[in-house]
Amino acid sequence: MLKQVTESKESLLIGNELIDAHCHLDMFQEPEIIKKDSRLGGLSTIITAGGSRLSSMAAIQVADGEMVFAVIGIDPQNAATDEDFIDEIAGLVKANKKVVGVGEIGLDYKVGPEKLLQMRVFERQIELAKSLDIPIVVHSRGAITDVIALVKKHAVSKALFHFFEGDETMAQELAGLGYLISIPPTESSRRKRVINALNISNISVETDSPVVGKSPLDVIRTVEWISELKGLPFNETSAQITQNVKKLFSL
Ligand SMILES: [Zn+2]
Repeated sequence: MLKQVTESKESLLIGNELIDAHCHLDMFQEPEIIKKDSRLGGLSTIITAGGSRLSSMAAIQVADGEMVFAVIGIDPQNAATDEDFIDEIAGLVKANKKVVGVGEIGLDYKVGPEKLLQMRVFERQIELAKSLDIPIVVHSRGAITDVIALVKKHAVSKALFHFFEGDETMAQELAGLGYLISIPPTESSRRKRVINALNISNISVETDSPVVGKSPLDVIRTVEWISELKGLPFNETSAQITQNVKKLFSL
């Protein structure tokens, strides 16, 4: 699968525009070096996500508004401690053009606090993003069914489903609502069915690095996988995916 990339990585990446739609740049020891390596490796755009008050402020810090953009919010794991940060998000969005969405937000039934609290914090942030007319970046570990129900309940118009773990039926339903399904750097047969079921215009790629991927450059492997499954040239696949994400976040 990686034959082409390893044999002629240079030529494949010339003139390319790759994107990492979800990572945590502030969690790297040296974000500036990661950024530089990513640029040299062919990435034009990185979206770095917060999930607590502290990590949201760090995401804003590390974003430059040119290559790196931030989304800020309270993820389910921090719902019990950081809920009051929600009141500060609108001000931070308005003061910083490089903040382009609310995220990551959602539900986590593996590690999050009690469900009702998680839901309240998620729903408050959905409404906030709607009032600001910016996308949400959704976290849905072990909770995809309830996440879909809430997103539909609030008639969300702009959303990226980060680290999508649902099946192809769910993916198609979400694509039908105009959302992006983000593919992480872990291949599985379920994920393959999801990619096959989706139109390329509803696909995003991400590394969730350094939590899952090693660096934003891990998107190269995922784009190649998608290009093979879709029978499209690598460059066309990367250009289309980058365009999908840029359009969602108005970049
Ligand atoms: Zn993440």
